[in-house]
Amino acid sequence: MNIAIIVAAGSGTRFGADVPKQFLEICGKPLLIHTLERFEECAAIDEIVLVLSESEIENFQKILEKFNLKKLGKIVSGGETRAESVRNALNLLDENKTEFVAVHDGARPLVSHEEIAQTIEKAREIGAVCLVGKVTDTIKRISGDKIVETIDRENLRRAQTPQSFRFDILQKAFSAENFDALATDECFLVEKARFEIAFVEGSAKNIKITTREDFAFAENYLKEN
Ligand code: C5P
Repeated sequence: MNIAIIVAAGSGTRFGADVPKQFLEICGKPLLIHTLERFEECAAIDEIVLVLSESEIENFQKILEKFNLKKLGKIVSGGETRAESVRNALNLLDENKTEFVAVHDGARPLVSHEEIAQTIEKAREIGAVCLVGKVTDTIKRISGDKIVETIDRENLRRAQTPQSFRFDILQKAFSAENFDALATDECFLVEKARFEIAFVEGSAKNIKITTREDFAFAENYLKEN
């Protein structure tokens, strides 16, 4: 079985709303429901595990009753950091049934079914795959208050999600000897465990909703489509 782990246990403090951003509505649905629906509709995914803050689980379960998400299985409570949240979900997966795992940010509702499926397909060949975006700005390295270097952007990519892996690779990356609670994505831990990682070029629209401007962009896109 191919499992999607959707992490949505962040506090979203950078967004500055009263409710965590994943529960704000776009077209009558919480942002997180839009994200879950992309995975529900993707034939490459068999089951979804959702990670939420302990304090949000009960409330979100009520919201979920209004939507028909057949693939949604367990809801797991999150950790202090994103990596700990992913680990909580991984610990509950069945070793005998799980083949591939796609980890995705709940705050990226604009991912397409094709992008999800392509990362799983590539993971069948290489074992570990990151969805990436091109870097279109010129990137500078700074030191103190000065610019000190221009970095060749041809060889740079922005790491997006989903990041998809053969289950045994992800287990090794999250093992006690390799784990780092401060890792900001799964590929960091997979790199650290010295596995090869392939990439799939994704679309620039697959943004992680962090600011109000991002939210407005997603709202416009979802309303038009
Ligand atoms: O904080 P950041 O923007 O990197 O979060 C990326 C994703 O990880 C978000 O969807 C957020 O809800 C999730 N997250 C989590 N548990 C945490 C921190 C972040 O599930 N402790």
